[in-house]
Amino acid sequence: MRVAVVGAGIIGVTTAWELGADGHEVTVFERRSSVAEETSFANAGVVAPGYVTPWAAPGMPAKVARYLLSDHAPVRVSLPLSRSDIAWMWKWYRSCDLATYAANRLRMQRLAFYSRERLHHLVEALQLEYDRSDGYMVLLRSEKDRKLVAPGLQVLRDVGVVLKEISADEARAIEPALNPGTPFAGAVHLPNDEAGNCRQFALLLKGVAQARGVRFEFNTAVDAIHPHERALSAWVLGDTAPTKRNFDAIVVCGGLDSAALLRPLGLRIPLAAVHGYSISAPIRESLNAPRSALMDERYKVAITRMGNRVRVAGSAEIGGDAARKRPAAIQTLYKVLRDWFPGAAQLANTGAAVQEWKGARPMLPDGPPVIGATGVPGVWMNLGHGSSGWALSCGSARALADLLAGARPEVDMEGLGVERLGT
Ligand SMILES: Cc1cc2nc3c(=O)[nH]c(=O)nc-3n(C[C@H](O)[C@H](O)[C@H](O)COP(=O)(O)OP(=O)(O)OC[C@H]3O[C@@H](n4cnc5c(N)ncnc54)[C@H](O)[C@@H]3O)c2cc1C
Repeated sequence: MRVAVVGAGIIGVTTAWELGADGHEVTVFERRSSVAEETSFANAGVVAPGYVTPWAAPGMPAKVARYLLSDHAPVRVSLPLSRSDIAWMWKWYRSCDLATYAANRLRMQRLAFYSRERLHHLVEALQLEYDRSDGYMVLLRSEKDRKLVAPGLQVLRDVGVVLKEISADEARAIEPALNPGTPFAGAVHLPNDEAGNCRQFALLLKGVAQARGVRFEFNTAVDAIHPHERALSAWVLGDTAPTKRNFDAIVVCGGLDSAALLRPLGLRIPLAAVHGYSISAPIRESLNAPRSALMDERYKVAITRMGNRVRVAGSAEIGGDAARKRPAAIQTLYKVLRDWFPGAAQLANTGAAVQEWKGARPMLPDGPPVIGATGVPGVWMNLGHGSSGWALSCGSARALADLLAGARPEVDMEGLGVERLGT
């Protein structure tokens, strides 16, 4: 089949790879000049299937309300809010009941475990070498934090996550550079989880895909899909008019902007931008830097070793000005890095060496992504991966390719189709 993939974030690149590997003639359309230039650019890189859960959870609305006035709030509602943000929040609120949360958590975790397997398979089969590390540690600042996470740990064990509750001393043995001046209650160590540079992986996979015949058309925006003609209109940057291109199938992997592309086809996909931030800085002294990935449970900020750099990422913000970085959110990242690894990064006197980034998680209100046929003939989708797109990418891509081929995916796809959204 001739297949078009719209978007070359981590979801589009992995999807293109799987479709190409199945023998389809694949063309990827990307409006940016390279892969992973938007949300997949500088995320935290964590692949921890047990922690892939919906944000629509019991107790979350109260948490959001509590954080409204806090400077270092991990979750935030900012003004202005658009009408679609408000509609999204209402849907999110209605998905926070225990039964809906439990069903969606199961769907996401199933996909996440499968995805980690697929990631390992690809890395080994294609010999992909990118900045990655093994293990994940959740840092608990106080006894209160320890008590708050305790009930969730049994849930993780029940789904097969290997974890160990450890003391501060044991945590320091695993991460010797943890600040001796920051006392903490202990940690949860997950030795089978990992972290990796999502953008680097996307670039490598794009290279292999290209070598095997997948075409990438950069600086090319898709501005309409014409299902009756099995065609799309693609607009090359600088051209005065779009050109129509025919395909047997079109797979929309455009992250946040997928909703606008699909709306004229009668599909209302309730995607919202949940903004987050990261800083990435060169390591000053390796001995003072983290070895792997950690999460400060109180601030919900991840600190990840990315080769010669350290990345600190966090915050979840709905609404506000997408183009403006909120200084307090960035300051929280610096504070958390200083608290745990004060000597790790070169932060001062380095000019532009510290990269400060704001990204928009393409989030559906109830949690899981939607993968598969849209119901419009010839049009498919793989989108809405929210805060876990990197962790879910390789499995989502393989499942989409199976569905498109009329085969049964290896992972249970119950609740991951468009029907869940009732559009
Ligand atoms: C601060 C932060 C931390 C995160 N940490 C993690 C983490 O630790 N682990 C994890 O798994 N996930 C994490 N995520 C989430 C993850 O980054 C996203 O889920 C993922 O990047 C989404 O990938 P995507 O391909 O769907 O979207 P994108 O990367 O945004 O890709 C979509 C692409 O489509 C293109 N596009 C859109 N419309 C069109 C069009 N009409 N024509 C042509 N091209 C188009 C865009 O230019 C873009 O390149 C984090 C996100 C943030 C913001």
